[in-house]
Amino acid sequence: MKFNTKTIHGGQEPDIAYGAVMPPIYQTTTYAQSTPGGHKGYEYSRGANPTRNALESAFASLENGNYGLAFGSGLAAIDAVLKLLKPGDEVLSTNELYGGSYRLFTSIYKKFGIKFHFVNMQDIGNIEAYINENTKLLWVETPTNPMMSIIDIKACSVIAKKHNLLLAVDNTFATPYLQQPLSLGADIVMHSATKYLGGHSDVVMGGLIVKDKKLADSLYFIQNSSGAICGPHDSFLVLRGIKTLHVRMQRHCENGKAVAEYLANHPKIEKVYWPGFEDHPNHLVAKLQMKDFGGMVSFSTKGNNYEEAIKIVEKLKIFTLAESLGGVESLAGHPASMTHVSVPKEEREKMGILDSLIRLSVGIEDISDLIADLKQAIN
Ligand SMILES: *Cc1c(COP(=O)(O)O)cnc(C)c1O
Repeated sequence: MKFNTKTIHGGQEPDIAYGAVMPPIYQTTTYAQSTPGGHKGYEYSRGANPTRNALESAFASLENGNYGLAFGSGLAAIDAVLKLLKPGDEVLSTNELYGGSYRLFTSIYKKFGIKFHFVNMQDIGNIEAYINENTKLLWVETPTNPMMSIIDIKACSVIAKKHNLLLAVDNTFATPYLQQPLSLGADIVMHSATKYLGGHSDVVMGGLIVKDKKLADSLYFIQNSSGAICGPHDSFLVLRGIKTLHVRMQRHCENGKAVAEYLANHPKIEKVYWPGFEDHPNHLVAKLQMKDFGGMVSFSTKGNNYEEAIKIVEKLKIFTLAESLGGVESLAGHPASMTHVSVPKEEREKMGILDSLIRLSVGIEDISDLIADLKQAIN
């Protein structure tokens, strides 16, 4: 089945009760048993729920995996991966990282005796120096937030296999429409389904997808034991969102490209961060591992003026000033005062997050309206 068919049919069967084409929202805690243990595959909805299971098999299908697991948020999904580890284990993570992932690693898991190294993986040669006998997990985010750096997943998987490490890829920004990490050698794909998979800014959810049965069993054990599951109604919403993922992504990519090119030619703009440009430092890797370049674009203005950036995001009318990304509507954010405000200025600048940096999640509105909006806000 081709990807554009999988988004609609992958892992899906008409409901067994009445043939409903969309899975019913099984808003139930528990399931009647005829005799103790005599049930139809469902006992209690923390362990399994038919609507959630329908979503989980859609997840697996989209990412070319065998098993999908849905969680109450993207961070709950990452949390489940970290629970595969034990005190003393070490993790190598990309140094550019979603802020919430960084906080989970350093403020929660560090105190349980897990050690994290944040490595610039854009240069694959940097990784091996950090590997020792305690290293268990390679955590990769690509494209990165908000700098749009690209990490070579296949090259990471070669290193992971050589040293017997798990390779997990946060595929939130790219979505399986653009890149499929399991097919590039990753062991675990993670999603904040809150973003493009849900696609309509109406639900918070996370997902994990794997190929290996043993790994799936371990993660299922954690999902059921820790209980960070999502509800049936949210499962339904994300399943519905997924059905249009391919058409939404196609338009996100077209609009993202047009916005990136408009900004790159604007006299007030210093730099545009978008992996589709030939002079993007990881453009060739992006071209190899991604189908297109996505709808996320960051840019900085000349003079690197904090107040000017704030003025621009305040003046935008169609782009809504808000956290999050990946919905049908265009959003703008100012990382230095929003997502990365807790990172000291010096650290921020080391990551390239200038005071004037603005991050756009380019939506699927008419492109001429989006360009006109940017034009009036910047001028
Ligand atoms: C939003 C996001 C997360 C966290 O997901 P939540 O659903 O908000 O918990 C993780 N990684 C990336 C890249 C994200 O954008």
